[in-house]
Amino acid sequence: MSRFSLSARIKALPPYLFAELDRKKEEVRARGVDIIDLGVGDPDRPTPKFIVDRMKREAAVPANHQYPSYEGLPEFRAAAAKWCRRRFNVSLDPSSEVVALIGTKEGIAHFPLAFVNPGDVVLVPDPGYPVFHIATMFAGGKSHFMPLLRENGFLPDLDAIPRSVLAKTKILFINYPNNPTSAVADRKFFRKVLGLAEEHNLIVAHDAAYSEIYFDGNRPMSILELPGAKKRCIEFHSLSKTYNMTGWRIGFAVGNLELVAGLGKVKTNVDSGAFQAVQGAGIEAMESDDEATDSIRRTYQDRRDVLVPGLRALGLDPVFPKATFYVWIPVPKGYTSASFCAHLLEKTGIVTTPGSGFGKSGEGYVRIALTKGKGRIREALSRMRKVGF
Ligand SMILES: *Cc1c(COP(=O)(O)O)cnc(C)c1O
Repeated sequence: MSRFSLSARIKALPPYLFAELDRKKEEVRARGVDIIDLGVGDPDRPTPKFIVDRMKREAAVPANHQYPSYEGLPEFRAAAAKWCRRRFNVSLDPSSEVVALIGTKEGIAHFPLAFVNPGDVVLVPDPGYPVFHIATMFAGGKSHFMPLLRENGFLPDLDAIPRSVLAKTKILFINYPNNPTSAVADRKFFRKVLGLAEEHNLIVAHDAAYSEIYFDGNRPMSILELPGAKKRCIEFHSLSKTYNMTGWRIGFAVGNLELVAGLGKVKTNVDSGAFQAVQGAGIEAMESDDEATDSIRRTYQDRRDVLVPGLRALGLDPVFPKATFYVWIPVPKGYTSASFCAHLLEKTGIVTTPGSGFGKSGEGYVRIALTKGKGRIREALSRMRKVGF
């Protein structure tokens, strides 16, 4: 018996679907199997050297050893605004329309606390990044899940959301390029989102963490490119995937000034902002030419072009990723997400992520991350070929 009972909100958390998989992974590893971990969405390459070098210099500056301001250094916010201008041709006032984040996850997790009251509905993609739903729960809101189906290009069917739900909805979360499906949204979809939001007075919160991990030269857009989007949209950006900086914890949110200020209100009361030296390194990254990110994109694209044809040769029908570093794959007949992952792990030592871990509509899929080199990807394919399914 434990002495302290957990809060209702922690007890209400969805079961951790990867616990069984983690246990199995350790068991297989203990047997001495050479594990190929294609599960985690964490870049395998180091942060580019010029960013690390700037960090070393910034770390030595005494002013950076003190508390940062929660909203971010003016220079960091200016660099973020300039980056958005260069990349999306979107103009932002750095002092009111940009807030620095300790990673996009932090911003998304805190955002509903600023705008959701108990009983309010939040529209959440399914499958989706788990933080959208958890953050909604922590704020006392209710998630209404929007299924992302292959026949709709993994875009939610906005017309299928009941009007009674929309009447109670405060926030609509979307995430393109999408984790875990790798789908990209076009202008027509974003327009439709904005139209619906205008009609029902919704806040649109767009997670753009993968905006720079795109392939074949097709650059995804920002929802803020749409006229009028700044009236009700906030967009979350991350340096994690763009510059291989997941461990540094730095990102930013941009958009409507009331939404940015609301998030800032939560942040002033919870954290004291990102380490200023890290913000300096972030400025270095955002002000650099695109060479570092070009090379990151090329790396994933090369890996994709090994993995996807290899999976097809095995009789699988993966979604062809236009962006992100994920491949979303329907499981073969006779398997569930979990049983296919377990099969691959036990028989081949390959770690994948069951789609069911991202929501009900993720059942029937597994996600493979392109976060290992081509040699390891080829090795994984050859093991799968030997074992079959
Ligand atoms: C990786 C990821 C994030 C988190 O980014 P951080 O800036 O590292 O917190 C946010 N959203 C999605 C969908 C992600 O996959």
